[in-house]
Amino acid sequence: MQDTYRHLGMRRRLVDALVAEYPFSQAVQEAMLKVPRHFFFEKAFVEKAYENKAFPIGEAQTISQPLTVAYQTEWLQIEPGMRVLEIGTGSGYQACVIAAMGAKVYSIERNRILHEKATQLIQRMHYNDRIVTLLGDGYQGAKAYAPFDRIIITAAAPDLPNELIAQLKIGGKLIVPLGKDDSQIMTLVTKIDDEHTETHSYGQFRFVPMLKGIVE
Ligand code: SAH
Repeated sequence: MQDTYRHLGMRRRLVDALVAEYPFSQAVQEAMLKVPRHFFFEKAFVEKAYENKAFPIGEAQTISQPLTVAYQTEWLQIEPGMRVLEIGTGSGYQACVIAAMGAKVYSIERNRILHEKATQLIQRMHYNDRIVTLLGDGYQGAKAYAPFDRIIITAAAPDLPNELIAQLKIGGKLIVPLGKDDSQIMTLVTKIDDEHTETHSYGQFRFVPMLKGIVE
């Protein structure tokens, strides 16, 4: 698939629409301008890629709405050189946006089909030096690569996963849509020390659930 000036124009309009909703930082705007969201869509649906909407990616999962990707990226306060763990690779789009911010990303997916598809796309886009994709259960995190400066969970978690807090550096931050119901509260958790965290709640969001185990 190709990225053209026409696609860049559509990205500009999308980013303008996001900025009309919230004053996103220049860094987040630039990262979202850089990553061709249509690469994550089937050819027949390329036009859908630049609408501010979630979209099915197969396996009953969705690529998050651009506004949600922008909020999670913004509130996590990512800086270049940081080590970021993502739970829920899905299409790989959010991982590419974080990599475009200059961070190193470790992204876990529990569904083998989605994991393999995202891994191939990330390779074709030459993001594979900045993103490590892992097949696994996000509840376990990625101990071999811990500790992380930032953790982003892109599926709805019923409770704060303690193992993930353990894999966060002191002063590190984790963002997660928290809740058991149809909609969740976006929650930013800062690790103060090994016993204490501080949390900040943002608005309501709608994510697919974070589930246990691997789907082969
Ligand atoms: N970040 C993705 C969207 C995520 S959709 C993107 O940019 O496209 C949520 C994803 O989380 C789904 O692919 C789902 O399979 C995955 N998921 C759910 N529970 C998980 C878990 N415990 N560990 C890893 N991935 C999980």
